[in-house]
Amino acid sequence: MDIILLGPPGAGKGTQAQRLVEAHGMRQLSTGDMLRAAVKAGTAVGLQAKAVMDRGELVSDEIVSALIGEELDAMAAGQGAIFDGYPRTAAQAESLDAILSARGRSLNHVIELGVDEDALVERICGRFTCANCGKGYHDKFEQPKVAGTCDRCGSHEFKRRPDDNEETVRTRMAEYRAKTAPILPIYDARGIVSRVNGMADIDDVTAAIEQVIRG
Ligand code: ADP
Ligand code: ADP
Ligand code: ZN
Repeated sequence: MDIILLGPPGAGKGTQAQRLVEAHGMRQLSTGDMLRAAVKAGTAVGLQAKAVMDRGELVSDEIVSALIGEELDAMAAGQGAIFDGYPRTAAQAESLDAILSARGRSLNHVIELGVDEDALVERICGRFTCANCGKGYHDKFEQPKVAGTCDRCGSHEFKRRPDDNEETVRTRMAEYRAKTAPILPIYDARGIVSRVNGMADIDDVTAAIEQVIRG
């Protein structure tokens, strides 16, 4: 099963993708995570992407589609993919169709997480992750069970993203409205879009997504 989680920055895509990975052994393909890894490693892609990401604008379609193709090729046959933060433009949606069909795969669901824009700044400015295993947290909405200790791996080190500040978030939201929201009709026409209320509690969002997947 291959699914897209679609929604603006802070909608909960990464949080829900991590839960699907744990529950179903699917693989999370986050172009944001791939790009941040490239920046950290100082690769040619990372050098090109860094300034664009710091501004909250979109990295080129060619770069992200190439990353997705490479990750899919590294997956076990039969393992489902969760696309998180990709596709973000009509050109990427078109590339994804070609990338999937070349590998004998196809999309089963596009799950749109609907959220109030007012809530997104608070979500993003309170977001942090475990520096060791990448588990996501929030200052107010998803704190570690033991303060300062990662629930999943026990690490005491956490990190915050440089682009998770109010100014950049506004640009990222504008990019979402202008370039990403318009791809929904493509998938609507195929009858594969399900809308989930992303303003609900994290567990309730997970339950709604599970219902979509079970069909
Ligand atoms: P969020 O989870 O807050 O939506 P991401 O981690 O998905 O953010 O993306 C962070 C940044 O990485 C984006 O602002 C953009 O610069 C870049 N990026 C990630 N995915 C894509 C993509 N599919 N196309 C273009 N740029 C991307
Ligand atoms: P995205 O990947 O769509 O940018 P995240 O999954 O990283 O979003 O979520 C952004 C922040 O909001 C994280 O700190 C996360 O813990 C928190 N969060 C996610 N879903 C919810 C929710 N339903 N209610 C409250 N906070 C949430
Ligand atoms: Zn951890």
